[in-house]
Amino acid sequence: MAAETKYIFVTGGVVSSLGKGIISSSIGKLLQARGYNITIQKFDPYINIDPGTLNPYEHGECYVTVDGRETDLDLGHYERFTGIQTTKANNITTGRIYQNVIEKERRGDYLGKTIQVVPHITDEIKRNIKLLGQKYKFDFVITEIGGTIGDIESAPFLEAIRQFRWEVGKNAINVHLTYVPYLAAAHEIKTKPTQSSVKQLQSQGIQPDILILRTEHHLDNAIRCKVAHFCNVDEDAVIQSEDMPSIYEVPVNLQNQGLDEIILKKLGIEPGEKPGLGPWRNFLDRRKNAKKIVHIALVGKYDLQDAYKSILESLAHAGTYNDHKVKAHFVNSEKITAANVAEKLKGMQGVVICPGFGQRGIEGKIIAAEYTRTHDIPTFGICLGMQMMVIEFARNVLGYPDANSREMDQMTPHNVIDIMEEQKNITQMGGTMRLGAYECAIRKGSRTWQAYEEKTVVSERHRHRYEFNNQYMTEFEEKGMQCVGVNPESNLVEIVEIPNLKWYIGTQFHPEYSSTVLKPHALFMSFVKSCIENN
Ligand code: GLN
Repeated sequence: MAAETKYIFVTGGVVSSLGKGIISSSIGKLLQARGYNITIQKFDPYINIDPGTLNPYEHGECYVTVDGRETDLDLGHYERFTGIQTTKANNITTGRIYQNVIEKERRGDYLGKTIQVVPHITDEIKRNIKLLGQKYKFDFVITEIGGTIGDIESAPFLEAIRQFRWEVGKNAINVHLTYVPYLAAAHEIKTKPTQSSVKQLQSQGIQPDILILRTEHHLDNAIRCKVAHFCNVDEDAVIQSEDMPSIYEVPVNLQNQGLDEIILKKLGIEPGEKPGLGPWRNFLDRRKNAKKIVHIALVGKYDLQDAYKSILESLAHAGTYNDHKVKAHFVNSEKITAANVAEKLKGMQGVVICPGFGQRGIEGKIIAAEYTRTHDIPTFGICLGMQMMVIEFARNVLGYPDANSREMDQMTPHNVIDIMEEQKNITQMGGTMRLGAYECAIRKGSRTWQAYEEKTVVSERHRHRYEFNNQYMTEFEEKGMQCVGVNPESNLVEIVEIPNLKWYIGTQFHPEYSSTVLKPHALFMSFVKSCIENN
C-alpha cells in the first residue's frame, strides 16, 4: 500500500469528448488490479450546482450515487469499471465550489477579507480534493477535470492543481489527454495540436508527466518520440489510446503500454509484478465470442446515446454474460401511435420503456406498454417507464380511460401515479427529488424475486417525485398486476409485475446505475435472458 495518498490529475486538451472519463476509469482499474484502494473524482467547470437540472441533450444522462447526489455520467463509468461506489464528494461543480465559499463568507468565516478566485476559490477546490483522500484513506485519488484546457471556466481548477502539486510534491502527477488528428488528404498524422495544448498547460504552470494521445490511427515510435521531445515528457510516458471496439478494452490496451507502471514510478512506488486482470479479460473474451444478436428496443424521447448511457451499458453487460450481443434500437416514443406501434417494434425481442420527465412522448410509451403486454413481449419499465406501465394497465384493464400521473395531469380523477407526500410542498427544483438508495422488500415467489436470485431485500437507487398510488393497489393486484416490491418503511411501491407474462416488470428505481462489468445487475441479466428466449 502507498504510505501517503497519491493524487493523479487527468486533464484534456485540443477537443472535448476525448473520453477522459474512460481514461480515468481505466487508470483506476489498473491501479486497483495491483491491490490499491482507489477513488475517482470529477470536477465539472459549469455553474450549475449539480447536473440534475440539465437537459440530457446538454451533458447526457444524469447519474445518481448511492448517497443521493445527481452527478455527471462519467461517475457511471467510474463505477462500472472499478466496482467502487462513488459518493457526493466524487462530483463537484464550479457552482458548488462558489456556493460553499459564499456560504462561508456570509457566515463570517473570512471576516475582513476580500473574497477572490485566488486564494479562496482555489483553496476550496484543494480542500475538496484532499477531503476525499483523507476521509476514506485512499491510496490513490484520481481527479478528472472536466472541460478542455483553454476554457475560461477551467482556469481556477488548473491553478488549484498547480498549487496542489507544489504542496504535495512527488505525491501528485498530471496525465494530459490530447487528440492527434490524421489528415487524410495529406496522409499525415499531426502532432501540433498536442504541442499547443501542452504549451497552454505549461503556461498555467503545469508540466504534464504523462501524455495520452487519442488517435484513430496507430502512431509509430517516431511520432511518440517527437511528441516527447517537444513536450518535455519521457518517451515511455507518451502513450497512445487508439479507438477500440469497446471502451472496456481500453484498460488492457493501456496496460500493454505500461501506463500503470509509469504512473507508479513517477509517484515513487516500485511497480512490482504486472497484474493479470483475469476476470476483466474473461469478460472481454466472452464479449468477443458472443456472436448471436438479441434485438431490444429502447422506447424514449431522447434520440441520443448518452441520454440512456447506463441502460445501454447494463444491457451490454447482461448480453455478454448471456453470451449474446445486445443490439439496442432506439424508438422515439413521440413518433409511436396505435397505428404504427406494431411496425415500430417489429423484430424486437424485448422492450425497455425508458425513464424521463414531463409530458413529451409519454402517450407513445403507454401505447408501447399496451402492445408489449397484449403481445407478451418481454418488457422492462424503468422509473417513468414503470409509471407508464401502471397507467396503461389502469386505462385498459381497470377501465379508467382517464387514468394518469399527477405529473402530466394535475386534475386527473384517476391519479394512479401521484405526487409523493414529502414532495408536495417542495418549490425548489434542484436536488429535491427522492434520490439515492432505499431498501425494497421483494415478495417471495414473485417473478422479480426469481430474477433477483431469491433475494427478499435489495437496495436500489432512485430519482423521482411521483409514486404509485397505494389506494389502487388491491384493484391492480386483483386484475393481475402485482406490486411485488415495496419500501419496508414507507410502503411505497417499488416494483410491479404481471406474473403470467414472459417478463413484464417495472421498477420505480434505476437498476441501471448499479450494473458493473464484473457484476451485471440481476434484473438486466434475467430480462436479457428472457428476450433471448423470445425469438
Ligand atoms: N418523472 C417521474 C417522476 O418524477 C419519473 C422520473 C424518472 O423517470 N427518473 O416520478
